Amino acid sequence: MELSEFEFFRRLFPHLPQGKGVVVGPGHDCARVRSGNREWLLTTDTLVEGTHFLRPWLSPFALGWRAFAVNASDIAAMGGRPRFVLVSAVVPASYSAAALTQLERGIAKAAGEVGASVVGGNLARGRQLEVTVTLVGEAPRQRLTRGGGQPGDAVLVSGTLGDAALAVHLLKEGGKPAGSLFRRWARPQARLALGQELAERRLATAMIDVSDGLVQDLGHLCRASGVAAVIEASRVPLSRSYLRHSGGVLDFALSGGEDYELLFTVPAAEVPAALALQERVGCTIRQIGELVAGDGVRVLDTSGGVLDLRTSGFDHFAKRRRHRDRGAIARNLASGSKRRAER
Ligand SMILES: [Mg+2]
Repeated sequence: MELSEFEFFRRLFPHLPQGKGVVVGPGHDCARVRSGNREWLLTTDTLVEGTHFLRPWLSPFALGWRAFAVNASDIAAMGGRPRFVLVSAVVPASYSAAALTQLERGIAKAAGEVGASVVGGNLARGRQLEVTVTLVGEAPRQRLTRGGGQPGDAVLVSGTLGDAALAVHLLKEGGKPAGSLFRRWARPQARLALGQELAERRLATAMIDVSDGLVQDLGHLCRASGVAAVIEASRVPLSRSYLRHSGGVLDFALSGGEDYELLFTVPAAEVPAALALQERVGCTIRQIGELVAGDGVRVLDTSGGVLDLRTSGFDHFAKRRRHRDRGAIARNLASGSKRRAER
């Protein structure tokens, strides 16, 4: 039986104890808990050799960096500040002490750059390399989650999408992705400043980071908010490198994942205020669609038709990515050739 990650958690949630102090339980980017008069964000994520990376693709330093950054991105998605880090690694005998030191340095560097302290961890022997980071962050006053989006809210996204997934695709094919694409995968930058600004100004109604793919993560936001979304394929922000190397395929941007950009909703009247943050937070922000009543995510092509998206993101538990409708999406991208290149 093929059990998806989402189905697994959906079945597990009702059986988990939720005691005093749990403000936001499972089902969001972080848990939010109260201790004394403060609230904290908690998140954890694992990078597994063979599932998320192959050793030749990433230096030990970059692996450490990445292990921290993907967790920091979940803290960003709830508007928080990373503070305390625990690291747990499973290390094969073939992994050298020097490599392990570099891995630790990567984590320390990424954590140090955003003011987080590495306060402990665990090391075990195993057959494949695995790095788990657990991150505790300071919560903002606004209890920002994936829920809270309303029909009529605008859907916005930071940065550009698809670069990381395209880099992994090229690596899997034995190629060498362009440096600009590879860096987007190997050294993701959590959008902490943007998340914090949105929360402090109470501009966003709902937020999630793009880890599984735009369409799938927007689906998570819609389900948590009890709404539907309509986005326009031609407004999805793409980098120049993506346009140059994607061969006209849009589905790395729509469904690829591992972008670690922030996807959020704001009331229509607040769109100018959200867009005005771009310079302050150092990344582009684009409106790509809006929330409507109903459920599900619809992606419109340039002629206003609905794209048939049977590919809906990367599920680590499922056997493989599905790229069944790549042809239709490629045709759509080709017809939208006047799109503006970002970055
Ligand atoms: Mg997330």
